[in-house]
Amino acid sequence: RLEIRNLVRHFNGRAVVDDVSLRIQAGQVTCLLGPSGCGKSTTLRIIAGVEMQDSGEIYVDGKLICDTDYRVPPERREIGLMFQDFALFPHLSVGDNVAFGLKGTKEAKRARAEELLARVDLLRFIDGFPHQLSGGEQQRVALARSLAPRPRIMLMDEPFSGLDNRLRDGIRDETLSLLKEEDTAVLLVTHEPEEAMRMADEIALMRGGKIVQQGAPYNVYNRPVDHAAVAFFSDTN
Ligand code: ATP
Ligand code: MG
Repeated sequence: RLEIRNLVRHFNGRAVVDDVSLRIQAGQVTCLLGPSGCGKSTTLRIIAGVEMQDSGEIYVDGKLICDTDYRVPPERREIGLMFQDFALFPHLSVGDNVAFGLKGTKEAKRARAEELLARVDLLRFIDGFPHQLSGGEQQRVALARSLAPRPRIMLMDEPFSGLDNRLRDGIRDETLSLLKEEDTAVLLVTHEPEEAMRMADEIALMRGGKIVQQGAPYNVYNRPVDHAAVAFFSDTN
């Protein structure tokens, strides 16, 4: 469903994304896993269309959406985003934040907002405002908002960072089941092996701008490609 081919992006003469190719199927979570600075967020930003590649192509359902000559603008890519630096609209209620950008009747939008807020256990705040919520609660609202339009492709950049452990497991599971129900193709960026092992159908291990290993979590974990991969997996961050 989402395919990227040979993406390259340089900053200051250095290849930060260095020939990255990936294929992500509907209903599958692929984790782009790797240490800080290896190029994960840059890869996601290129797919989202907010950063331009030097070369390489992006396809959705086999249709080209971006190469060096042709570029579908970000808002027309039908790709959902959940980034680290999410922000809610402060002047809109929690419910209106979740419903923002949805099509349909007022009642239908409200119903969808209720459904998602219930899933992230925040229905009681539907008529409240973002400033009345804790950081973690705001993050869960942002998650509900990003899932509300049922994007067929979802890009998530460390969406669970900053949540406390107890909450995080619940939200991870809830997010996974929502994404699977909708048959979404998901690219999830994380620097935490544990998160990738828990969430991924497939792990793409990234280092220095390159994907050094790719496969089912069990295989990537049990048959690390080299010593650096062993060290990365055993590092408890
Ligand atoms: P983290 O886990 O810390 O979020 P990351 O894998 O997401 O790391 P990126 O944000 O993709 O890493 O950055 C990869 C490299 O590219 C870093 O060395 C960063 O400094 C550099 N970089 C990213 N964006 C720019 C930019 N706009 N200008 C210059 N260098 C950049
Ligand atoms: Mg990043």
